[in-house]
Amino acid sequence: MHARLAGKRETTVSAPEGRAALADRYPRIIKPHDPSAVPANMPDYAAARRTFSWEGARGLLDGLPGGRGLNIAHEAVDRHVPGPRADRDAIRWLGRSGERRAFTYRDLKAATNRFANALSGLGVQAGDSVFVLSGRIPELIIALLGALKAKCVVSPLFSAFGPEPLATRLTIGEGRVLVTTASLYRRKIAPLRGSLPKLEHVIVVPEAGEAPAAGTLDWRRLVDGQSPDFTIPPTDPEDRALLHFTSGTTGRPKGAIHVHEAVVTHTVTGRCALDLHDADVFWCTADPGWVTGTSYGIIAPLTNGVTSVVAEAEFDAATWYGILQNERVSVWYTAPTAIRMMMKLGAEAVRGYDLSALRFMASVGEPLNPEAVVWGQQAFGRPFHDNWWQTETGGIMIANFASMDVKPGSMGKPLPGIEAAIVQRDPGGSFMIVDDPMVEGELALKAGWPSMMRGYLHEEERYRKCFAGPWYLTGDLAMRDSEGYYWFVGRADDVIKTSGHLIGPFEVESALLEHSAVAEAGVIGKPDPMAGEIVKAFVALKPGFAPSEALRRDLLGHARKRLGAVVAPKEIDFAATLPRTRSGKIMRRLLKARELGLPEGDLSTLESDLR
Ligand code: AMP
Repeated sequence: MHARLAGKRETTVSAPEGRAALADRYPRIIKPHDPSAVPANMPDYAAARRTFSWEGARGLLDGLPGGRGLNIAHEAVDRHVPGPRADRDAIRWLGRSGERRAFTYRDLKAATNRFANALSGLGVQAGDSVFVLSGRIPELIIALLGALKAKCVVSPLFSAFGPEPLATRLTIGEGRVLVTTASLYRRKIAPLRGSLPKLEHVIVVPEAGEAPAAGTLDWRRLVDGQSPDFTIPPTDPEDRALLHFTSGTTGRPKGAIHVHEAVVTHTVTGRCALDLHDADVFWCTADPGWVTGTSYGIIAPLTNGVTSVVAEAEFDAATWYGILQNERVSVWYTAPTAIRMMMKLGAEAVRGYDLSALRFMASVGEPLNPEAVVWGQQAFGRPFHDNWWQTETGGIMIANFASMDVKPGSMGKPLPGIEAAIVQRDPGGSFMIVDDPMVEGELALKAGWPSMMRGYLHEEERYRKCFAGPWYLTGDLAMRDSEGYYWFVGRADDVIKTSGHLIGPFEVESALLEHSAVAEAGVIGKPDPMAGEIVKAFVALKPGFAPSEALRRDLLGHARKRLGAVVAPKEIDFAATLPRTRSGKIMRRLLKARELGLPEGDLSTLESDLR
């Protein structure tokens, strides 16, 4: 059965390619009933769907004292301080070289107040944008929450970005303040400073061996002497709080605007989808430069009052197992690329660790292979619970919940309060809801949950195009089975997911085009067993340049320098010319089909001489 929706948007609905069979290939994981186990926060999914309301969920939060509104930082920190959680560790930071720093909720309240006072002292106003650029260090968390207290709009930047992605985002977001570290400032920001006239204040966290840089403010001098008291001004739940950049197929990165009310989703999903309980020690491995690292690395664990482990080091299996053991982590939220790297080392590598505290494991950000779910069961005695969401949705939307059977390979079922659907375009260009099971289409969500983005900054038209009537179109292709579980199929557009990072091909192509030898560039995601996809570029050279190994290396180096290693292509192929549509757009779809040896599909929009 189909129901018609309003609006229209370009998507390509491809053949299911045996995906339907996936649903039966791996047996579902039925969790044994264990009366001694911690009961799930949401014991009965069907009942929760019937009774859930967002107004009710709001009751999980306090609101600012005196009915002065809703502020994320108050919910995450201050409200716990008069109560029994005040002296509980809010953040347990584990430094790269073995250092440890713990902040109780009381400490975090004082530290974030100091930062809010420091911003006020600089004349920073409500609504001003504060960017944060650092690895996983406590100052980043303090700055983010302190800026939210001062009602600034916070925008996290990924510390592995090169100068171009940083400059683009700081410019679009009109960053007035930037918090960063001494080495990141020297390497990445100082060379850009002259091109960022709106950037007034750069607050630098000092590092050993780094001299203070001219034109920056030293964190310690600016923040440490501030008063530990601060009163959060009245905050409307619709006031802007976070600006998260994401990528599309074309054009500049998009700044998804989120408001303070998003904290309702963060809190509810922390309880339902991550099953956070009061005494939990939670570890989210995501980088704060991306939305998971903010929503679940900072906000959700704190609003739920648990202890959150923040580990600075990059992935290393032995280090990670050591953290799970030594910190007695009970809830672990990680990502498929890391899980695949652990799988490669085998379940044996896990055996020597005491992981008896570990109760719930979840994964997000890219497709989680069913084998990885099953491997979790073998290695850790429990499956990874895949869940799905994206920058625009602000919080988890679809999940394998603790009380549900896990279907390996499926993203799970929609959160109570979220209505999801699979939609297709009919020949007239309208969208239709597909009710039949295991039919591929675009995943759509009925708008209206608290953490839904409120817009793309300065990009009204791009935002409008995300909707068909009341339905938000996610840009992902998926299927729903007869029991209501959703199965990820792929992206409807050309964006690339590499090691969990969303990369816009346009940004990569633009950087390549800046090289004097490049006439045309087309960028695709090439499937990779470990990273999910890697960034691959095809370039056509200008007259006078000939393909060579030396030029390929030069182009790879050029892209890495401009974009950073995560965004830059890992592979570059030369081509005499690149296929374009009649309107002049590079046909990445065709480049990809050729790369993978797949049928080239409908080429009717290709220029005839290039077919
Ligand atoms: P981002 O906005 O960077 O968080 O990326 C969101 C995109 O990541 C989604 O639109 C999906 O394409 C992908 N994604 C996130 N979670 C999953 C998942 N569990 N399975 C498959 N893809 C996912």
